Amino acid sequence: MADKEFDLIVIGGGPGGYAAAIRAAQLELKVLLIDDRQDDNGKPAPGGTCLNVGCVPSKALLDSSKHFHHIQHDYTAHGINVEKVSMDVGKMIERKRKIVKQLNGGLMQLFKANKIEFANGRGKLFSDRQVEVRPHDGENYIAVGKHVMLAAGSEAFSIPNVEIDGKIIVDNIGALEFDAVPERLAVIGAGVIGLEMGSVWRRLGSEVVLLEAMDDLLPVVDPDISKAAAREFKKQGLDIRLGAKVSSAEVSEDKVKVTWSDKNGEQSETFDRLLVAVGRKAASEGLLADDSGVELTDRGQVKVDEDCRTTAENVWAIGDLVRGPMLAHKASEEGIAVVEALATGHGHINLDTIPWVIYTDPEIAWVGKTEKQLKEDGIEFRAGSFPFAATGRGLAMGEAAGHVKILADAEDDRILGVQIIGPTASELIAECVVAMEFAGSSEDLARIVHAHPTLSEAVHEAALAVDKRAIHKTN
Ligand code: FAD
Ligand code: AMP
Repeated sequence: MADKEFDLIVIGGGPGGYAAAIRAAQLELKVLLIDDRQDDNGKPAPGGTCLNVGCVPSKALLDSSKHFHHIQHDYTAHGINVEKVSMDVGKMIERKRKIVKQLNGGLMQLFKANKIEFANGRGKLFSDRQVEVRPHDGENYIAVGKHVMLAAGSEAFSIPNVEIDGKIIVDNIGALEFDAVPERLAVIGAGVIGLEMGSVWRRLGSEVVLLEAMDDLLPVVDPDISKAAAREFKKQGLDIRLGAKVSSAEVSEDKVKVTWSDKNGEQSETFDRLLVAVGRKAASEGLLADDSGVELTDRGQVKVDEDCRTTAENVWAIGDLVRGPMLAHKASEEGIAVVEALATGHGHINLDTIPWVIYTDPEIAWVGKTEKQLKEDGIEFRAGSFPFAATGRGLAMGEAAGHVKILADAEDDRILGVQIIGPTASELIAECVVAMEFAGSSEDLARIVHAHPTLSEAVHEAALAVDKRAIHKTN
C-alpha cells in the first residue's frame, strides 16, 4: 500500500521534469516532483543539468569572458581606450553562482505557488507506478502515481584511460568552476560543449587546444557554415586539431600529459587542465527497479515511442533520458506535450523544428535540414545566403562575421532548413522556426517587412536570395 498517491509523479527536476510538473499543476493534476540535486549548502537545487551545470552557468561565463575579450580587442576601433584590464576569476565565478542560486530559488517558489509537492532526494520506479522516494532529509516512503514521468536527464561521458578527478581533469562541472585561468587547457571533443567552454577560457587568456577525433569540424552543419566557424575560431586563437583521437591522460604534479593519435602517429603534450567534452549519456542508472517494466536501449536510454510512452503502462520518459537532441527546450516541450496529452487528450511536439544553438562568437544556430541531408533524401532545393558584412547594423556593431543561409523546396518553396553563423544567431533563428512551424515559404519571409537597420535584415535578404533577388548583394 502506498504512503501517498498522486495523479503524476515526475522523477527529475531539470527543464524537462519541472516544466512538466508546472504544466500538470496548471491542469489541476496532483503532482509530486522528485529531484536529488543540492547546492553547496545542502539546499535543494532544482533545474537539473541545464540550470546548475549546463546552459545557464555556461552562458554566464560566456558573457563575462566576451566582455573581457571585447574590451581588450574591439573597443579601440570604437575610439574607446581602456588602459588597464584585469580579470577577477573568483568574482566571475561568484556572479555565475549567484545567477544559478537565484533561479534555483525562483523554481522553488514556482513549485510552492503551483502547489506541487517537491521531494529533494532520489526516486526509483518499481512495478505498477510505485515510486520509492528517498529524501535527503527524512524517512523513505512509497508514492504511487496514476502516471509517472521519467526525466532523469543525462551525465557526461568519459573515455577509457582518462579519469575525471574534478581538479586537473574535469567535465563540464569542473570547467565551470576553475579558480584561475589555466595557462594551457586541452579539451577533448570539439562539439558544442567543448567549443563553448574552450571559448570561455581562451578569451580569458588560456592557450586552448581542442582535440577532435573526427576529420571534420561540426559535421552537423553544412561545410560553408563550419568553414566560416573554423576561420573565426582560428582568428580567436582556438587551436583545433582534427583527426586527433585521445587515448589516455596521466596526471602528475598538477599537470596532465595527454596522448592522442593522428595521421602522424602518436602525440603527447602536457597541459595544466584537461576538459573532457565527448558527449553525454542518459542518466538511467539507479532509476529503475528490476520489476519496473521499463526497457532501455543498448545505449542506456529509456525506450519510448513517438509520444514518449515507455514499455510500462502510463509511464512516460522525456528529455535527455530518451532519443532525440539533448537540448533543454526539447526536454521542456516534450514534458509539456506529454502532460497536455494525458490531461486533455491533445499534446504535440514537432521534433523537426527544434532550433540548435552554439553560443560561440560568432554564434551558430540552425533548424531543419542541411544541404547534405536534403541531397541524401533526394529533395530538390534552392538555397539563398546573405552575409552580415553587407548589413548596416552588423558593421555598426562591429560584429559582421558570418552569414544566413536558407534552404527552400525547389517546387513549392517551403522552407526546409536555415543555418546562421553570426551575431545573435540564437535570437535570429526564432523567426525561422516560426516560419517553418507555419509551413512558410522563402517568399513569405521575403515579403515580411524587417526593421532597418537590424541583423534580421540578413534573414530577409537570404530569403530574397533564394529567388536571386537580394537587394544588397549581387545574385
Ligand atoms: P537534466 O537537466 O539532466 O535534469 C535531470 C535532473 O534529474 C537532474 O537534476 C538529476 O540530478 C535528477 N535526477 C536524475 N536521476 C534522479 C533520480 N533517480 N531521482 C531524483 N532525481 C534524479 N541545452 C540547451 O538547450 N542550450 C544550451 O545552451 C545548453 N548548454 C549546455 C551546456 C553544458 C555545459 C551542458 C552540460 C549541457 C547544456 N545543454 C544545453 C543541454 C541541457 O542541459 C540538457 O539538454 C537539459 O538539461 C536536459 O534536461 P532534462 O530535464 O532532460 O535533464
Ligand atoms: P558532442 O557530441 O557535441 O558533445 O561532441 C563530442 C565530440 O567529442 C564529438 O565530436 C566526438 O567526435 C569527440 N570525441 C569523442 N571521443 C573522442 C576522443 N577519444 N578523442 C577526441 N575526440 C573525441
